[in-house]
Amino acid sequence: MNKLIIILLALTIGSSFAYHLDSSMWGFFGHRKITRLAVFTLPSDMMPLYKKHIDYLTTHSVDADKRRYAVSEEAIRHYVDVDYWGRDAMNLIPHSQREAVIKFADYYLVEGGDSLLIRAVDHAKLPDEFTIIGEEHVDTEKLSALLWDRVNFYDGTTEWSLGLTDIVEALPRLGKETEDYSQLVIRDRFTDKGISPYYIKTIYHRLIKAYEEKNLDRILRLSTDLAHYVSDIHVPLHTSYNYNGQLTDQVGIHAFWETRLPELYADTEYDLFVGKADYVDDIQEYAWDIIEHSHSLVDSVLLIEKRLSLSFTNYLQYCFEDTEVSTVRVQCEEYSRAYHDALGGMVEDQMRRSIKAVGSVWLSAWADAGQPDMQKIAQGIVKPNPLDSIEQKRKIEKNEPQN
Ligand SMILES: [Zn+2]
Repeated sequence: MNKLIIILLALTIGSSFAYHLDSSMWGFFGHRKITRLAVFTLPSDMMPLYKKHIDYLTTHSVDADKRRYAVSEEAIRHYVDVDYWGRDAMNLIPHSQREAVIKFADYYLVEGGDSLLIRAVDHAKLPDEFTIIGEEHVDTEKLSALLWDRVNFYDGTTEWSLGLTDIVEALPRLGKETEDYSQLVIRDRFTDKGISPYYIKTIYHRLIKAYEEKNLDRILRLSTDLAHYVSDIHVPLHTSYNYNGQLTDQVGIHAFWETRLPELYADTEYDLFVGKADYVDDIQEYAWDIIEHSHSLVDSVLLIEKRLSLSFTNYLQYCFEDTEVSTVRVQCEEYSRAYHDALGGMVEDQMRRSIKAVGSVWLSAWADAGQPDMQKIAQGIVKPNPLDSIEQKRKIEKNEPQN
């Protein structure tokens, strides 16, 4: 029975991960535009340095997406599948990563080949609701406190094994049953559903450190990465388990919303001057506030397109367009216009929010580092970026235009 549950859950994780690798996130066009324009939200102390390196920042704002194909743990940093954890999940997911992992983990007592599942999330009921099997066996609050120093939640593993003697007080109702087992195994079910808000906090603190060290190269690299992750959480589908419409027969909606629509309308129709960046006093709560707003838009993103798709026949929805490299199948302009207008300014608004948020997190990291002298920092060295040479080599091999 336990083995069957494990196999089914392993299959669920595998398919989720593959979908996320395929979806492209704000598209390169959107990321570059947001990062570039964020420079102009900065205060006069900061702006000269960011302006000087604006081409670097713009070009490398998509490095995080490129890394997804080379680094296996990269993909989960770009999203958080809020609704995977139920309809009311916005209020259920702990804002601390450790607590989220502990809350949604499966727990087994193990001795040799024998294992007893004592607490798990019942995935059969997803996505509308979920239940916890055997909740009474584990005191998650106590366990969280006990695990705080014993487990490294960021080491890339998804399963931890602990001696029972250490933590038996966190298993209040098992009583004599624990005597038959020697270990508690904790299987992480949360991490592969996305960690973007937590990772934003990690990168933010690295950027503060880079400012404290006045390390120009690291400041630029971390600024581009932070811009990327903060922009990604403004895309509503980055907060949903149905991130590419795969659960509602709308496959392709991810790139439609975040790439096709900005490419068609951002340059000609959007007002992307957003004023000055603001200081953010709690990066973790700030990221969750952004996610809460983005997630509130998910239903509209999906339902409006679904309704529209029923009034356009298929051949009016999809057209073929020639790019420099190949012919691609995209949503037709008339269909895109209808969707864009029905969304009522949503893409523009999310892009504006992204630009302001990126400027705000850059400003806040610098302020938290004690506002180091930017003129001194500007004298530092920018090292060649390893992704540049890989990209250049790929273009030469494929005979693509180089820039
Ligand atoms: Zn991304």
